[in-house]
Amino acid sequence: MQQKKIGLNTICTHVGEVKDEQFKGAVSPLYMSSSYAFEDVDVKRYPRYFNTPNQEALCKKIAALEHTQAGLIFGSGMAAITTSLMAFLRAGDHVVLQQVLYGGTYNLVVEEFDKFGIEYSFTHGWAPEDFEKKIRSNTKVIYIETPSNPLLTITDLDAIGKLAKKHGLISMIDNTFASPVNQNPIDFGIDVVIHSATKYMGGHSDILAGAVASSEENINRIFALAKNFGGSLSDYTVWLLERSLKTMGLRVKAQNANAQHMAEYLFGHKAVTRVYYPGLKSHPDHELAKSQMNGFGGMLSFELHEDYDATQFQKELQLIKPSMSLAGVESTMLSPTKTSHALLGAEERAKQGILDGLIRFSVGIEEPEDLIADIEQALEKVRLGRVATTS
Ligand SMILES: *Cc1c(COP(=O)(O)O)cnc(C)c1O
Repeated sequence: MQQKKIGLNTICTHVGEVKDEQFKGAVSPLYMSSSYAFEDVDVKRYPRYFNTPNQEALCKKIAALEHTQAGLIFGSGMAAITTSLMAFLRAGDHVVLQQVLYGGTYNLVVEEFDKFGIEYSFTHGWAPEDFEKKIRSNTKVIYIETPSNPLLTITDLDAIGKLAKKHGLISMIDNTFASPVNQNPIDFGIDVVIHSATKYMGGHSDILAGAVASSEENINRIFALAKNFGGSLSDYTVWLLERSLKTMGLRVKAQNANAQHMAEYLFGHKAVTRVYYPGLKSHPDHELAKSQMNGFGGMLSFELHEDYDATQFQKELQLIKPSMSLAGVESTMLSPTKTSHALLGAEERAKQGILDGLIRFSVGIEEPEDLIADIEQALEKVRLGRVATTS
C-alpha cells in the first residue's frame, strides 16, 4: 500500500471512505445489514467475517495509519489482544511479555494461558537483554507495551524488533498509549501493532473497540481466528469510529501540547515530588522516546507531596474528572493504587515504583490555564493543616 506518502491528517480524513455513489454525500454511508445476498461469487459478506462495507473501509484506514499492508477491527481492545496472541501461540509454545502491562492483558495471561498449555515469562526490566534472557527454544512471541502504564517507561522498539528477528519470533506491541499519531512501531521492525480503539482512536469516551495492524500475511492468520472467536465490531460503532478517526491527528497533537504544558507546570511545583512524562528532559527515557515517537503523548503521572492528601485532592477537582478510562478529549485523573493496579498488592507496587501518592493524569483538550486553575484550587483545599472544605 502506498499510503505512507499521504500525510497523517489526510489519512485520518479520507483513507478508506465508502463513496456514496447514490447521493454523493460527504461521509461514508452506514450499512447496517447483517445479511447480504449470496450471489454465487466468492464474496460472502457477513459482519463476523469483518467484510461489510464499513468494516472494510475502517480496516483500510487503520492499516494506512500504522504504515502496514492490512488491518482488522474488533469489538474491544481485549478482543484484538486475545485474538492476536492466540493466532501465534498454541499448546507447548512460550511467550515473553514485558513486566508491566495493561491489567486486562496481565489477567488474560495469568488466568487463561495455563488452560491452553501456553507457557509465559514476564521480564524483570525493560532492557533488550531482559527480554533475551527469557527466550527459550519454544518461544514464539515477544509482547511489549510502550509507553507503559502508569509510569510512562519506554521500551526500545528497534532493539525489540531486532531481537525478535534474530530469534525468529513475532513481536507484538500494545500501541494504545501512544496512538498511531505518536508512534508507528512497524517502522522500527515490530510485526503486529494492537490498539484499544476505546482510547485515543475513539477519543470521546463513547466507543468500545480494538484494532490490529500488520502485514497481509499476519492479518490473514489473525483473521482466521477472529472469525472463529467472534469478536467483531458492530457496523454502527465502526461508523462512529471512522468519524472519530478523522480528528485523531488534531486531538492527539492538542493533547501532546497540553500534556507537555501540564508536565512542566507540575515539575518543580512545591506540592509535587515527581513527574513522569517522556517529554520532560528529567525522564530517564527522554532520549529514547525522542528517537521513536513523533510526540510524547497525552498521559503523565505525578506524585503529590505527603503534605497533600492525594485522595481528597481528586475529590476537590471540579473540571478534571475521576475516571477509570483514559484518552478522551476531557481531562481525567485516577489513583493507580486504588484502581488499575489495586490487585498487585502494596509490595509489588512498591517494587514497580507505584506509590500511594501517585496520580495518573490523562490530559484532554481543555485550555491549560483552566486545568491549572482547577488543580490549584484543589491543592489549596487539601494542604495538610487545613481542614478540607466539602463543596
Ligand atoms: C484500555 C486498554 C486496553 C483494553 O482495551 P478495551 O478496549 O478496554 O478492551 C488494552 N491496552 C491498553 C494499554 C489499554 O489502555
